[in-house]
Amino acid sequence: MPGTDDSAHVPSSSQRISEWVAQQLLDRIARGELVPGERLPGERQLAEQLHVSRVSVRAALQKLKTQGFLTAVQGGGTRVVSSAGVMDGALTAMVRSTHQNLCDLVEIRMALESWAARRAAERATQDQIDTIGRILQAMSETNRDGGRAADDMDFHVAVAQASGSPVYLHLLSTIRDILGNMVEMKHTEPFMENHEALMIEHHRAIHQAIARRDPDAAANAVTAHLGWILARYRTMTEEPATPAAPQAGAPPSPGTPG
Ligand SMILES: [Zn+2]
Repeated sequence: MPGTDDSAHVPSSSQRISEWVAQQLLDRIARGELVPGERLPGERQLAEQLHVSRVSVRAALQKLKTQGFLTAVQGGGTRVVSSAGVMDGALTAMVRSTHQNLCDLVEIRMALESWAARRAAERATQDQIDTIGRILQAMSETNRDGGRAADDMDFHVAVAQASGSPVYLHLLSTIRDILGNMVEMKHTEPFMENHEALMIEHHRAIHQAIARRDPDAAANAVTAHLGWILARYRTMTEEPATPAAPQAGAPPSPGTPG
């Protein structure tokens, strides 16, 4: 361990050091500096940032993985998981079991997201507003359906970050994971071919309201956007739509209910 002045506050015993490293990483998650889905820097980089050995970093990462805060990424590395991730299994099962539960979840998402948009209009930095704008631009330029769905989620995550609330980021991540787990709803929003222009328009209204610092308009724009989607979910029948051919990495089919 380098004996720099910066390391003066690092505890001495190796077990304590790894616990200290784990706490540093948890603090970054709690402050929203590391967000759900984000890949952590590598062991070497973390060791340099925190002035500790790679062994201590490795032990800290292992501990956080065991506790469910981090998960291994295929091909190496770790990423942050939602702190509420442990609920996903039970909630996913509930949401799958009845159409009403699914609609409730979308409705709850709508309430949470309008709160977040309001906060974003009040607190977003100019950088965060620009990021939302760039994602919106990418959405309107992407021709691939898959890319558009990914951009859509990026848009909502960017609004979440602009709200400045790590708690909200984790709640959104949990809801996103559950909706993403639904085989019949691979996309969190039903992006139909003939509604793409309308969807872009919805997102543009959200961006513009946040950019002009209008909390009421931002909340209303989200309610209009997700309300439209909720109406579509409600018209879907209890039976899931025929899922597309299973793709690599897709969750296993839950089997057709009832
Ligand atoms: Zn959207």
